[in-house]
Amino acid sequence: MGSVAVAGAGLTGCLLAVRLARAGHEVSLYDRRPDLRVRDVDAGRSINLAVSTRGLDALSRIGLDEIVLEQSIPLPGRMIHDLDGSTTFQPYGTEPDHRLHSVGRDALNIALLDAVDATPRVTTYFEHRVRDLSVRRRQMVVEHEGRRHEREFDTVYGADGAYSAVRGRLQRIGRVDFSQTFLDHGYKELTIPPASDGGFAMDPNALHIWPRGGHMMIALPNTDHTFTGTLFWSFEGRPGFETVASPGDIRSVFDEHFPDARDLIPDLEEQYADNPASSLVTMRTWPWHHDGDVVIVGDAAHAVVPFLGQGANAALEDVTILMDLYERHGDDNHSVVFEQFSTSRKPHADALADLAIEHYEEMRSDVSSRVFLVGKWLERILARVFPSRFVPLYTMVSFTRTPYADAVQRARRQQEMAWGVAVAVLVVVTAVVLLSLL
Ligand code: FAD
Repeated sequence: MGSVAVAGAGLTGCLLAVRLARAGHEVSLYDRRPDLRVRDVDAGRSINLAVSTRGLDALSRIGLDEIVLEQSIPLPGRMIHDLDGSTTFQPYGTEPDHRLHSVGRDALNIALLDAVDATPRVTTYFEHRVRDLSVRRRQMVVEHEGRRHEREFDTVYGADGAYSAVRGRLQRIGRVDFSQTFLDHGYKELTIPPASDGGFAMDPNALHIWPRGGHMMIALPNTDHTFTGTLFWSFEGRPGFETVASPGDIRSVFDEHFPDARDLIPDLEEQYADNPASSLVTMRTWPWHHDGDVVIVGDAAHAVVPFLGQGANAALEDVTILMDLYERHGDDNHSVVFEQFSTSRKPHADALADLAIEHYEEMRSDVSSRVFLVGKWLERILARVFPSRFVPLYTMVSFTRTPYADAVQRARRQQEMAWGVAVAVLVVVTAVVLLSLL
């Protein structure tokens, strides 16, 4: 078998490296960052992640799901914080095991790096940044300590995230479509410390949401009894990162919009001033591969905004799909596998990108409306009465491996069915009332 190079030792790259090595390949895994087990690395990304069925299933393929579950906190639903401080719990799914799992991004990455170390045939190179690659000469240019080196390869997997260097190279090889679309809104993380008794400051078994129509804050629990709060609002509007700047301003905005959260963050002004405001981007590109030489996976192929909590889940699921194709077509049949992976996965990545943007509206606004709550209640009833015919969209996305675009289509059909049932019920009730009046 040929030698393969994986660019990026994040979640996708590590899982892929382990699975390729187990299939018999000699794998070189490169990451531009230092080993995060040795040095605290600020990846500039979210501190924790909600992992659900797709991610856990992918991790189970290398026996990591149980280890990750042990280090995570189950989230069976969302806790909505109203302006007056009252809270309402909304379950996520229709079954008791329908729960998200809040896990530290570093903890998950470390578990995967440990799995890499325990796998023969993988060599990891930290602080090695992939700069370029020549498909024709089968060489990759890697920079380490300021010097550039050429490395030979047979096949390259670009798992190097949203700003992928491998994708950048693909774009120069041939005709490649690429788009990146930023939301007007961005995010900033704010840590909610433990309560004075050392316990959690809020219920840890929920994803907390402060929906405020045009903007919102959310918080996920960490195993050290902190919460990572994430403020999502616009860059330029009010409130927004550019318009809310002074310490007095941030406090008064919190007094107005998040009074109960304000009391939980004593150093709010310092954190707001110190922590960066980051952008939210959707990236689409096509094709995802060049013959059987190079393929991109995870965020490198399809970065989505984080509102559905599916980016990492989808990225890990990519590895499952890719390795299933190798099992079907042979471990060296890269060109067939890359072609089938790309064409079968792309429509679902696009569907996820759209769903993730739509879900922002649901989280920051709809979740607190009565119509939404009635709709959710009806969904649960229908799911209970017709379990094989009605599965809510959120359930399909988070608690099954139904391909994303199929889930969207099925949800549309179900909605039509639900309207049909509602109209039929209305007709029957009206008829009964009219008959009783005669
Ligand atoms: P990355 O995690 O970006 O890893 C890429 C790796 O490649 C990194 O280690 C990087 O150092 C390395 N690298 C980059 N360039 C090079 C180079 N040139 N050479 C060598 N190495 C390189 N997803 C969920 O499923 N659930 C959530 O709750 C969730 N919450 C999120 C919250 C926020 C605020 C954000 C921004 C994202 C969230 N996501 C979530 C999405 C998730 O973070 C990504 O989808 C996931 O990290 C993608 O994994 P990846 O391995 O493809 O890329």
